[in-house]
Amino acid sequence: MKMSFLDEVEAYSNKVIEIRRMIHRNPELSYHEFETAKLIAEQLENDGIETRRGVGGTGVLGILYGKNRDRTIGLRADMDALPVQEQTGLPFSSKNERVMHACGHDSHVAMLLGAAHVLAQHREELPNNVKFIFQPAEEDGGEGGALPMIRDGALENPHVDHIFGLHIVGDVPVGIYAIKTGAIMAAPDSFRIEVEGKGGHGSLPDQTIDPIYVGNQLISALYGIRSRYMSQTKPLVISVCSVHSGTKDNIIPDKLLLEGTIRTLDEDLRKEVKSKIGTMIPSLANSFGASAKVSFMDNAYPVTYNDPEITKRVIGILSKIDGMKVVEIEAVMGGEDVSRFLQKAPGTYYFLGTRNDKEGLIYSNHNSKFTSDEDYLKFGTLAHVLIATNNW
Ligand SMILES: [Zn+2]
Ligand SMILES: [Zn+2]
Repeated sequence: MKMSFLDEVEAYSNKVIEIRRMIHRNPELSYHEFETAKLIAEQLENDGIETRRGVGGTGVLGILYGKNRDRTIGLRADMDALPVQEQTGLPFSSKNERVMHACGHDSHVAMLLGAAHVLAQHREELPNNVKFIFQPAEEDGGEGGALPMIRDGALENPHVDHIFGLHIVGDVPVGIYAIKTGAIMAAPDSFRIEVEGKGGHGSLPDQTIDPIYVGNQLISALYGIRSRYMSQTKPLVISVCSVHSGTKDNIIPDKLLLEGTIRTLDEDLRKEVKSKIGTMIPSLANSFGASAKVSFMDNAYPVTYNDPEITKRVIGILSKIDGMKVVEIEAVMGGEDVSRFLQKAPGTYYFLGTRNDKEGLIYSNHNSKFTSDEDYLKFGTLAHVLIATNNW
């Protein structure tokens, strides 16, 4: 009897769990994924897959050639951990102080290596080339890991036509693929506003230009941008998350620093909001006699955009998997640098639920107790395999 892909994935699932635990035990921060990259490359080479190391830093590529050498799909996993002190109590807990795979990238690597293993057994039958892309530094937020890999040619030789990837999530129950056409994740911009006034005695505010008073007006203005100046039909978040000023109860300070985040799902709106903040804030501060310098973090990730046609085809593929349900979701206002790959090669990014209420696995990503239901990792591996063996 011919084995199904599910049978093959299941037969290899203990190995996937073993790999996941090895990586979980030795988590590495963004741009420092040396051991993880070594393990990945060795695993790919063991499966007889052409491997490139050190792509854009610690990135690793694996390539299998299909019948149609002119068409290539990329499967992407990120491999960095977070500066979190693990508190799961798991026997394979992090051995590194204050470093933890609290976002599940250990599982991403393991599932993609599982898919690479299964696909390597079918290399003669693959309709398209398959490139396995293991990227560093997804958690960085600025430069990230995708951009350096792209600059280093990760999407060429052979040229990648479509990219696919998935993220495990602690907020979605097991048994679910969560997906959306169009924008699925936000562009996560951050801003910094330096307000300069004139300090003095707390009892004589009229002889000062109080940056705290001015900052207060600026925060109100920032929160009015969404409701009074932008289209009400497009999602937008502006949050001031850090305010710093002053040293003592009777001193009006000279300066104040505001920092915050802007989340958008539309590149035009993104530009419009940044431009509004850039013009409104300095002139408002000026009108109070103070000055305000606005800057935005360079290189923030773009909107993660799922190509509608390709995503519909992926939904079709995932819907056929027994024991799993495909749920179409609202966009998430977090950011992801898979967006940079998707800008170059249209494709789809989706989520795999790993929250198991029965087992008490109810912590969200980035929590110090976050972990995944390992029994469901096979459905991530299977999704990669089925997408890779589709004729694109
Ligand atoms: Zn994360
Ligand atoms: Zn993540």
